[in-house]
Amino acid sequence: MNESYPYDPDLHENGTPAAQGECSYHGDDTPERGTCAGEAVVSFEDSDGRWQAGCSAALEQLVESGAIAPLGQGA
Ligand SMILES: [Zn+2]
Repeated sequence: MNESYPYDPDLHENGTPAAQGECSYHGDDTPERGTCAGEAVVSFEDSDGRWQAGCSAALEQLVESGAIAPLGQGA
């Protein structure tokens, strides 16, 4: 399980959607992930160790699936 952090644009590569405050979890063509809630609220590392930004819907799904720790409960 990866840690999660309150969304922080500084964690994301300049010029990427995540750095602009956009959700990168729903960024690709991923209908199985449901509807994007829009604004990024969480920053997390994916299984490849890349920083991603997630909206509130992404946060909920990722925590539920055990991919990331709930916000504020990291080590
Ligand atoms: Zn989203």
